[in-house]
Amino acid sequence: MSGVTEDMVSGVTEDMVSGVAGGAIKDTASGAAGSTGGAACGEAGLDARLKAFVGRTAATAGVGKDPVNLPMIRHWCEAVGDTNPAYTGDAAIAPPTMLQAWTMGGYSGHTGRFGAHDELFALLDGAGYAAVVATDCEQEYLRPLRPGDEITFDSVIEDVSDRKTTKLGAGYFVTTRMDVRAGDELAGTHRFRILKYAPAAPAARKPASKGSNESGDSEASRGAVPRRPRPVINRDNAGFWAGVEERRLLIQRCGGCGRLRFPWLPGCNACGGQEWDTVEASGAGTVFSYVVMHHPPFPAFDPPYAVAVVELAEGVRMVSDVVGVGHDEVRVGMPVQLEFQRVDEELVLPVFRATEPGPPDTGPRAEAGQAPGVAAG
Ligand SMILES: [Zn+2]
Repeated sequence: MSGVTEDMVSGVTEDMVSGVAGGAIKDTASGAAGSTGGAACGEAGLDARLKAFVGRTAATAGVGKDPVNLPMIRHWCEAVGDTNPAYTGDAAIAPPTMLQAWTMGGYSGHTGRFGAHDELFALLDGAGYAAVVATDCEQEYLRPLRPGDEITFDSVIEDVSDRKTTKLGAGYFVTTRMDVRAGDELAGTHRFRILKYAPAAPAARKPASKGSNESGDSEASRGAVPRRPRPVINRDNAGFWAGVEERRLLIQRCGGCGRLRFPWLPGCNACGGQEWDTVEASGAGTVFSYVVMHHPPFPAFDPPYAVAVVELAEGVRMVSDVVGVGHDEVRVGMPVQLEFQRVDEELVLPVFRATEPGPPDTGPRAEAGQAPGVAAG
């Protein structure tokens, strides 16, 4: 991912970032990691070169492509479901969390940027730290932004960490600070932190698989087919997985108001009741929505593949696989039937089999004269 620009990285929202950072990043002291043999000298030289970027300007006198405006505010509020009245009407202000939105260059990018950021990334890429993940973001709001405010911004590389070892791999945290102004007045600051890292080998990231590799033979673990992720079974959802063991798909039913809910939760969203029992799903459902995953690749999944939200006949929805049709044949509204698939010696998952072909594809491929079925008739 050597071509990642600041804006692409910054496109990750704060919520996504905190979700990632909460689990994936384990920040440990770097001293021990860099202490093995000759590599330490090279890393020390690199560290010094990286530190030289601290304080360098990444952008100066950038200009927001549009003044603060109501249509963007409205789209933002709709997208995040924020109905705060402060963001509508004649006296509207922009949601403070939109701070960075006013500075984004879009697909065409910004002009007049300094090269420090690209140079830093090129240096890290060249040293093998080619992967990138956004880790966290901090914003500080100094004054509200209002429709009509003209936005300018400067950004600086504020910090490059020492080399850190994380669960993803070893790398460097790079912090960029952007100062956002309305006219000449500082309206807020936006700090964005990413990890540029050398991905750890998959075998090092996976817990050792039980049974197959008790001697710790790395040869064997490298050759092993990666397994699907294990479900996280806890007090709140153990009943669901016990049902799957018995080849039953169980839906929770509130003891207070009778409402069905899925996935399993300790309380009822409708009435707050904590009593519940279960009903067994009939197994009939329809595809409510789906995506076809092409990227990024995950171990044990072979892209492209379809991931569907299936609406059960009982009315609740669940995410699952659709089997029996190709990834490009899944359609919204397609009827499906529950079955249980043994994934490996430990894992059984509920999946949904397409029971009849979906509606014909009327998209561009059919127009290109490749409509299957037409030629066959
Ligand atoms: Zn209830």
